[in-house]
Amino acid sequence: MSESVHHAYIGLGSNLNGPRQHVEKALINLQYLPVTTLVAVSPCYASKPVGPQDQPDFINAVARVDTRLSPLALLDQLQALEQQHRRRRLRHWGPRTLDLDLLLFDDLDLDLPRLTLPHPAMQERAFVLFPLADIAPELTIGATRLKDLLLHMKDDDLQRL
Ligand code: ATP
Ligand code: CA
Ligand code: CA
Repeated sequence: MSESVHHAYIGLGSNLNGPRQHVEKALINLQYLPVTTLVAVSPCYASKPVGPQDQPDFINAVARVDTRLSPLALLDQLQALEQQHRRRRLRHWGPRTLDLDLLLFDDLDLDLPRLTLPHPAMQERAFVLFPLADIAPELTIGATRLKDLLLHMKDDDLQRL
């Protein structure tokens, strides 16, 4: 555990067994993580699946937490929550009860086998960037302004709920 408080953004997604309830339960779970405070939560969005299309639409949201956990300790906690929601890894980008991606951790760049920061696909994903902008409109990702990323991002497959 590190001494200082870190700002982290988490992307939530679910498309199985009552996806909205999974996301809302996960937001409650985040409030109970050790040495962590849930600071902001975006509205929920419905989105079309990435990858295989023969699966239900997703519910997505983004949360900000302030935490004294290290990046890997936070990832451990998020993966434990996925397990609590009985996530089964069946196929790549397949349906899941809960997916918790660590999007950003301060302005850290990391490339470990278990953890890449910023999350490598976030800049191309409307279901991440739009809810992120709801809670952090002035954010920059590396040298790139979130606002500029959104200028080029289509929201056709995305519906704010
Ligand atoms: P994607 O990462 O493209 O959204 P996914 O969420 O379906 O795909 P998972 O099966 O949930 O992928 O995760 C695969 C692995 O990615 C995990 O075991 C985890 O260790 C690793 N990983 C690397 N970087 C991150 C990150 N920033 N957040 C969450 N997991 C990460
Ligand atoms: Ca994901
Ligand atoms: Ca994931």
